[in-house]
Parts: sequence; C-alpha cells; structure tokens
Amino acid sequence: MARQVRRAFKYRFHPTGEQAAELSRTFGCVRLVYNKALEERTRAWNVERRRISYAQSSALLTQWKKTEELAFLAEVSCVPLQQALRHLQTAFTNFFAKRARYPRYKSRKRSRASADAGITSLVTLSTGEKVANPRQERRDRARLAKAQRELARKAPGSANRDKARRKVARVHARIADRRRDLLHKLSTRLVRENQTVVIEDLTVGNLLKNRTLARAISDAAWRELRSMLEYKCAWYGRELVVVDRWFPSSKLCAACGTICTKLPLDVREWTCECGAMHDRDVNAARNILAAGLAVTACGDGVRPQRDTSRTGHSSAKQETQRATAGIPHP
Ligand SMILES: [Zn+2]
Repeated sequence: MARQVRRAFKYRFHPTGEQAAELSRTFGCVRLVYNKALEERTRAWNVERRRISYAQSSALLTQWKKTEELAFLAEVSCVPLQQALRHLQTAFTNFFAKRARYPRYKSRKRSRASADAGITSLVTLSTGEKVANPRQERRDRARLAKAQRELARKAPGSANRDKARRKVARVHARIADRRRDLLHKLSTRLVRENQTVVIEDLTVGNLLKNRTLARAISDAAWRELRSMLEYKCAWYGRELVVVDRWFPSSKLCAACGTICTKLPLDVREWTCECGAMHDRDVNAARNILAAGLAVTACGDGVRPQRDTSRTGHSSAKQETQRATAGIPHP
C-alpha cells in the first residue's frame, strides 16, 4: 500500500474524575476564603467599628496561607481565591450602597460555581480543536440523578421500585447511546483523516485513585473510544500509538521543553518562561503527538503496549519510557 503523507493527530481524554476532585477542592477553598474574609470583616466592624478593604483582606489571605492549619490554601491556584475576595468586596459595595442585603456566608449547597469552570470538552486535538461532550449530557445527568433519588425512596420488592429501576436503566442507556454515537463519529473521522493517531493512555494508578461514578463512566467511554480506534486503524491500515499517562504532557512546554513545576488543574492557560502561551490541553496534545511520533521513529521494537490494562504493564511502561526519551525539543 502506498505510503501516505504522514499527518498525525492526537487527542487526549479529560481525566474527568480527577479533575472534578481538584476543582471541588478549589471551590472548597474559595468558599472557605470568602467565608473567613466575611467573618473577619464582620468582626472588625462589630467589635472595632473598622472597615476592612479589599487590599487588607488580600493581605489577610497571604497571612492565612502561612499558618499551619490553612497552609493548604497555597496548594490551589491563587486566582480563584483572589476572585472570591473581589466578589466579597462587590457584595459589601452593594450593601453600603443599599442595593443589596448584608453579604451571606457561602454554603456548599448554594455555590454551584463548577457549572462555568469550562471543563466541557471531552477530547482535545493537537490542532487546537476541542471535541465537546454530547450536548444533552448535562441534562441527562440531572435526569439520572433524579431517577436515582426516586429509586432510593421506593420500598424494596414493590412494583414501584421495579418501575423506578427500569427508569434509571433507560436514562443510563440513553447517556451511553449518545456517548457511543459521538465516539463512533469521532473515531471514524480521526482514522480517515490521519495516517498515525497518537492517544494518551489511562494508567492503572489513575483507575484506582478515584472510584466515583463520573470517573468510572469516563474510563468506560475512554476504553470504548480506544477500542474503536484500534479496530478502525486496523481496517484502514493506520497506525495507533498509545502514550503512557505518566508522561508529563500538561506541564511540559511544547515550544522549549521546560517542565513547569506547578500547574493546578483549574489553570487552563499558562505562559512558559520562554514566553510561549499555552492552552493547557492543546499543549498537552502537542506533546503527546511528539512523544508518539518519537515512538514510531524508533521502529517496531519500542511500539508501546496494546494491552497494558490487562497484561505486562510494567514492561510496557519501560518501553514507553525509552520511546519518549527521544522527543525532540526544538
Ligand atoms: Zn517554553
């Protein structure tokens, strides 16, 4: 078969569960900072008749990070924390202008900040294209949660429980159908358009870290996509390269090869010391592509694992390590 021009594409799959955990940690910190600053401002006014400004509350935050019990605040991005203080400032400004009531403490139930976090894409391509989750996904998830709550309330063994259980199964099936449809279209397109496809693998460690439902579903979808790519690549005579997840794809600057030491998951864009500005996922996708091409350039002997999830994981890991050592850093 004639060798086609090699256009590699790669994409990465979002570690939805892990990311969600990091995000919920960030939102927890945001809430804590907001509430603590509100408490301090209230106390200062009630006790000392003193107003605390935004700048002063920001200085307080710096002090909190230095204390032993609040040192964990330094582990999340400072941007959303500063934002929380600005929101509090706005709330006070509105209160003083008699436009709003006195600021209330944020509760976990009321703050639903995670909805505009921007984690909506399922897969990112090295070209910068992002493939979104199926459009109905969020609504279906809400329906699923409702159906599950209803199921939990039905008496065991009752006809109503049986009905509720069938409803839960229907919603599950609908989510899976829509997801599968999207994965089929995506995998067919990727395989048709590219001679080599490079993907990022899930590691066993990642699988074990988080057993939440969201995580399990995303892993299942990931495996489904990977298996579609495997057989479609075989059909069309394409090459599929799997790059191990240990590879620091997000933190490595695709332009200069520097590894950024700290990159919290809620930081979606960053600037390297070399001046390159990166979209987190596109940068990672470019690194995965480079790693995958390095693998193929080394020949068959270092083709990474086809079946790491089942057998020979440690040796496969070594193979990938050797392979990715050859990534060219321009
Ligand atoms: Zn750089």
